[in-house]
Amino acid sequence: MAGATGRDFTRREVLGRATRAGAGAYLFGALPALERAFPALGEERPNILFVFSDDHAVQAISAYGSRINHTPHIDRIATEGAIFLNSFCTNSICAPSRAVVLTGKHSHVNGKIDNSAQDPFDTGQPTFNKALQAAGYQTAMIGKWHLRSDPEGFDFWQVLPGQGHYYNPDFRTPDGQVRMEGYVTDLVTDLSLQWLERERDPDRPFLLMCQHKAPHRNWMPGPDHLMTYEDVEIPEPESLFDDYLNRASPAALQEMSIREHLQPAYDLKITPEAPEDPDDPFPGYARMTPAQRAAWDAAYGPRNTRFREANPQGDDRVRWYYQRYIKDYLRCIAGIDDNVGRMLAYLDDTGLARDTLVIYCSDQGFYLGEHGWYDKRWMYEESLSMPLLARWPGRIAPGTRIPHLVQNIDYAPTFLEMAGEPVPGDIQGESLLGLLTGRTTDGWRDSIYYHYYEYPQPHRVAPHYGIRTERYKLVHYYGTGEWELFDLEEDPGELNSVYADPARSGLVDELKAELRRLREFYGDETGVGF
Ligand code: CA
Repeated sequence: MAGATGRDFTRREVLGRATRAGAGAYLFGALPALERAFPALGEERPNILFVFSDDHAVQAISAYGSRINHTPHIDRIATEGAIFLNSFCTNSICAPSRAVVLTGKHSHVNGKIDNSAQDPFDTGQPTFNKALQAAGYQTAMIGKWHLRSDPEGFDFWQVLPGQGHYYNPDFRTPDGQVRMEGYVTDLVTDLSLQWLERERDPDRPFLLMCQHKAPHRNWMPGPDHLMTYEDVEIPEPESLFDDYLNRASPAALQEMSIREHLQPAYDLKITPEAPEDPDDPFPGYARMTPAQRAAWDAAYGPRNTRFREANPQGDDRVRWYYQRYIKDYLRCIAGIDDNVGRMLAYLDDTGLARDTLVIYCSDQGFYLGEHGWYDKRWMYEESLSMPLLARWPGRIAPGTRIPHLVQNIDYAPTFLEMAGEPVPGDIQGESLLGLLTGRTTDGWRDSIYYHYYEYPQPHRVAPHYGIRTERYKLVHYYGTGEWELFDLEEDPGELNSVYADPARSGLVDELKAELRRLREFYGDETGVGF
């Protein structure tokens, strides 16, 4: 499979036909002075703390302007470092995104195109953590791995099997499986802090990948947040009652709507008054200790009673479901944010903060009721977006806001460059270090490529590929032969495809040419061409 070094393209052509006006208009603060105060890159290799959550949408991070919650600890990374304002995945689904992060290559190249067991991730291939380990980094992977095989290239690993459990989860280790009592987000943080405290080699830089299960479905909050948001009404998104008109057919044919596809017991914990099996009214409950169950029942019992009494129907039921769903989701986020705060406090207390790059991100975005949906997969903004925040004192100026189009293929080369290691030629991403430190802005890409594969189950989202530029998004559903074009400036909610607008035919031709160029450049011959 052809890699990023397609023979017909120069790097300049690939990264963009022209540098967009305004692309350099982000803040570097007093960077030149800071640069002088520190040794050259590669001479002092930073520790890397990579905090990764699962399904955390940018709409639920206050640094990104959330209307529905507040995340003070995650925001601190942006305040003291950088926030990427246009950060995207290449394939909006869990395991594939992780494979992209590790390899720096699109799904069709690293081989992990969907979550299915038939296509396991080949851990024999080069990954950035293996390169860092070979270069002398002490490496650890703790929490959600989600790639079935055992992790490779880590001195220490302790991972959740599969999706893992919220309460009293099992952890897989090289020595077998252990069950731990507690809440998963707290435990992943406890294990990460223990590793830093007890296992860290002070003579070597470390890479710690601290990867959370939360806020993945089925959104079970921890004991500290069972009552958070109890007495507030979370604002509804404008497109909660989307009619799916003026778009290609797939949007109307999915199976991921709050109205029809959320399962009352499994997703919303709305259990019958007298469940058939009181020990297991919804998955996850049976694992709880008696004390955990008592706390859970005290929170959810009265809510379920109110639901049964109100017995809402139609749109009222959608509104009720939305509130239940979004509050549980945000309660899981509150647990993540608390635990990000614990990690940052440890770095402060030990003096490690100064020499540590801290990243917060999540494997893709998520629908928080937009288009009437939960879940991810689509190239629409909410699931295409990935939160990405980075702090590295002295290197990244506080308050840096980066508007450039970046993707998860860029992480591996970034970490390699930070470690002073060469970036192999077949890596498809570009290091973000220049953007982070204000070193370069010229020639950055002005379009990104996306390809989603998994179909028909679990949510009947039609396979598609497309490109996004600063202003436009062109999507091709190659199974049905349909196209969509969105003008993100005029229609940020992506409710009205203007693909068929005769006035846009020139633009369509231009974007199709760019899409064809990117498919050729990244060597993607999968999916039907056009
Ligand atoms: Ca995910």
